[in-house]
Amino acid sequence: MIYEEEELNFYLGTHRERWLITAPLDVSLFISHRVLARRATLPRAPLGRHYAIDSGAFTELSLYGGEFRTSPEEYVRALARYDDEIGDIAWAAPQDWMCEPFILAKTGLTVAEHQRRTVENFVTLTALWEEQGAPGDCPVMPVIQGWQLDDYLRCVELYEQHGVRLAKDYPVVGVGSVCRRQGTAEIGEIFRTLARLDLPLHGFGVKIAGLRQYGRWLTSADSMAWSFQGRRTPTACGSSTHKNEANCQSFALTWLQRVWKAAARPQWDQRDLFEVPEPVETELYGAAAGSGTMGLVSLVTLGEWAAKVGRAETAVRNHLTDAPGFPAPKGTRPREGSGTPYEEYEESELDAWLKAWETKHAPARYEVPGDPGEYRTLGAIAKLLGVDGKTVTQYRALLDQHAAHEDRGARRFYRTGDVVEVLNSRKGFGVALDPARDRRRTAAADDGPGAPSA
Ligand SMILES: [Zn+2]
Repeated sequence: MIYEEEELNFYLGTHRERWLITAPLDVSLFISHRVLARRATLPRAPLGRHYAIDSGAFTELSLYGGEFRTSPEEYVRALARYDDEIGDIAWAAPQDWMCEPFILAKTGLTVAEHQRRTVENFVTLTALWEEQGAPGDCPVMPVIQGWQLDDYLRCVELYEQHGVRLAKDYPVVGVGSVCRRQGTAEIGEIFRTLARLDLPLHGFGVKIAGLRQYGRWLTSADSMAWSFQGRRTPTACGSSTHKNEANCQSFALTWLQRVWKAAARPQWDQRDLFEVPEPVETELYGAAAGSGTMGLVSLVTLGEWAAKVGRAETAVRNHLTDAPGFPAPKGTRPREGSGTPYEEYEESELDAWLKAWETKHAPARYEVPGDPGEYRTLGAIAKLLGVDGKTVTQYRALLDQHAAHEDRGARRFYRTGDVVEVLNSRKGFGVALDPARDRRRTAAADDGPGAPSA
């Protein structure tokens, strides 16, 4: 079964949309629609950022006496906006109806009715995505709701009755109503049974103990447990900008390392395939900070340095200067005429920092699974590589240029070896793969015959 071949993809929950830019690129993020919806301007995520959207359904149902304030139309419009402005959404949770007894008490409805509404909402959201003309496939993934094991199995059937093929058509299938009773044998049994149906399961709000117990049945999971813990933890990271660690990235990344350890499955480990660098901030940036050369100090503006390292100045300003450990300016250089003076940086510090950054954010290298000459769909190749479909399809325009392919009926088949080569030639953070096409939108939009080619 597929789930035995993959490494669990863990989504770090965050309340801070800036993390879409500042978090290391090997960290997948889970961020709520409720956070993003409030923002007039959204951050543009760097190429390669992997993030998923939480609908905030649980919060809405528990806050508003058992009803949704966000209509399906509003939610789909918001998702299309995130997909466009932030960058490709890996997937998004639906507005599902969880089945915890205290939620049922608020709505006054049965488990069966919550399941019916959950399935109906999923079908509605998928249809709305197409009706609204949003590009690419709808990012919303189905969520199986229930309380007892039998309920979940009935919900799987309900999806089938609506023509939703959970095992065939979706890279992620969520399992709801589990996070407030994890660590129980019951939950382990629910995940194990659903995984045997060959479903790529996502566990919502799974903590470290849960991962140890049933992580092997999961394709992915998310959690904000670090933040609840951080709220009760006085600042320990040395920062003077916050009183506790509830929204501290370095605190979250330390916690994430424990998650990765708990989720590691040595017997199936594919570290050779996904060389995941460990986020050790102090070691990495400490080395960069100590690299100044005595006497020979060359001061440059960010614009000069960006040109030297082959990056756009705006990309450096937007994506790099906020990242942890980015060197501080050493002084200013007056402009000719009026205007704010340029800030000057020490060139060697910038170079050393960038080197450390690139090492840390180097995209994972993939190995060719099986015969490189074999032609497959991008979806099939993604599956073989053990990554979400969008991880590969976001490069579709580039693949169309550089990978041998042929159309068979409505579907396009690519030479597997070429696709892997293109994926491995991805440059690091902040550098567009194809300077003429920095926006992934065009790649994701082309999803079938008749679609405009990028
Ligand atoms: Zn902190």
